[in-house]
Amino acid sequence: MSRLANLWEETAVAAPTAEPLKGEARADVLVVGAGYLGLSAALHIAEAGGDAIVLEAEAPGYGASGRNGGQLIPGLKYDPDEIEALFGRERGERLWRFAGGTADFVFGLVERLDLRAEASRTAWIQGVHSEKAARLARSRAEQWQRRGADVAYVEAQEAERLTGARAYIGAFVDRRAGRLQPLSYARELARAAIAAGARVHGASRVVSLDRQGAGWKATTATGAQVIAKKVLLCGNAYSDGLFPELPRSIVAATSLQIATEPLPEPLRGAILPGGEVLSDTRKVIRYWRLDAAGRLLMGGRGPYREPGAESDWAHLVRAVHGLYPALRGIAFTHRWGGRVAIHPDYWPRLHEVRSGVLAAIGCQGRGIGWQTAMGAELARLAMDETYQSVLPVSPIKPIPFSPLKRVGFTAALHTMRALDRLGLS
Ligand SMILES: Cc1cc2nc3c(=O)[nH]c(=O)nc-3n(C[C@H](O)[C@H](O)[C@H](O)COP(=O)(O)OP(=O)(O)OC[C@H]3O[C@@H](n4cnc5c(N)ncnc54)[C@H](O)[C@@H]3O)c2cc1C
Repeated sequence: MSRLANLWEETAVAAPTAEPLKGEARADVLVVGAGYLGLSAALHIAEAGGDAIVLEAEAPGYGASGRNGGQLIPGLKYDPDEIEALFGRERGERLWRFAGGTADFVFGLVERLDLRAEASRTAWIQGVHSEKAARLARSRAEQWQRRGADVAYVEAQEAERLTGARAYIGAFVDRRAGRLQPLSYARELARAAIAAGARVHGASRVVSLDRQGAGWKATTATGAQVIAKKVLLCGNAYSDGLFPELPRSIVAATSLQIATEPLPEPLRGAILPGGEVLSDTRKVIRYWRLDAAGRLLMGGRGPYREPGAESDWAHLVRAVHGLYPALRGIAFTHRWGGRVAIHPDYWPRLHEVRSGVLAAIGCQGRGIGWQTAMGAELARLAMDETYQSVLPVSPIKPIPFSPLKRVGFTAALHTMRALDRLGLS
């Protein structure tokens, strides 16, 4: 019987001190939200000599950054040829280089700032479940290889050797990728941002943002205030009603995880023996990995509502038993979940919500690398008005019939599961 608890909270480094904001403060840049995006933005602003205040509703790493699978995967859902076709040769190349470099960016920060986040470059395996997905994965490997990346497509036998499961007809293997302890990484980013001079406040939900001269005045739930020239909105899937058009422009999908007790040898050594992380090509993806203590963590989609009953996680238990029958009888100790911001076209976005108020939203499940790197982009934009970001600024497009999103999402989920089963996705 697993209990509703986030495993990462039990194994993370200690949280940095982040007292609630009191009274009135001034800063060049106000950052709303202390996940990877906000903390990376604050760190890079402080390192560039700027003055940043981060206001977080709960605690640093409270959102998706402290709950995710810890799979550090570069790239976007789109492959480089497609990106060049969409954005043109020059802009496209800049974008795929940026996207392809996001894992390097994180590993670089970990090394430079000595972040204690159990980070290691163990590779990502993308299990391929259908012939259609195999064609795309072969093409993905070929496109990245042509650009010098350390990736490969492997056939079924090698996929089985790498994963320890007879589940896939092939696999895309990306050796730029790896794993980390996600909450430790968020807390260590906060520690580094504070050390660089940023002020980070927890329990400080921003409830209003009003124009103040050429800048902005933010008020927190407890009445504290910040006056800043620029504002960076970093709430992503946890964005609230501050600017309602932002949460309306994404699907905040629930992703769930379940963890076993530490596995005894030889079970442990038979699953992803190289320490790789894995997700698959299904439309309704499953993802898994071992943690540092040898627990198996299995993740996948959840319901379009707050999960609660243990039965909401039952499909993940079935997935573990289906993939690794030897694990029947092993106890599951933890289950938890979080929200992932997804756009219908799977593109992340950069918005100027109001003059001087920027937001980067929609990580499509690759936010460890992408949002960390975008944090540095937001920092440059906030510090230099002439800077052209790698991702163009685009208008916010609320999803039509937003109140019907739940019904639509659930129907789409059933359709996608059926396509996965039939091998048509
Ligand atoms: C279960 C799960 C598994 C995932 N697995 C992976 C994975 O393996 N690999 C990967 O790359 N990505 C994964 N993701 C996605 C990844 O976790 C996110 O993309 C990333 O953490 C987003 O970071 P962020 O800083 O943009 O947002 P968040 O980390 O969600 O931070 C947003 C913060 O803003 C705060 N906030 C919101 N509104 C306000 C306000 N008004 N005032 C103050 N604070 C506010 C929230 O409290 C929150 O802490 C996963 C996500 C989930 C949920």
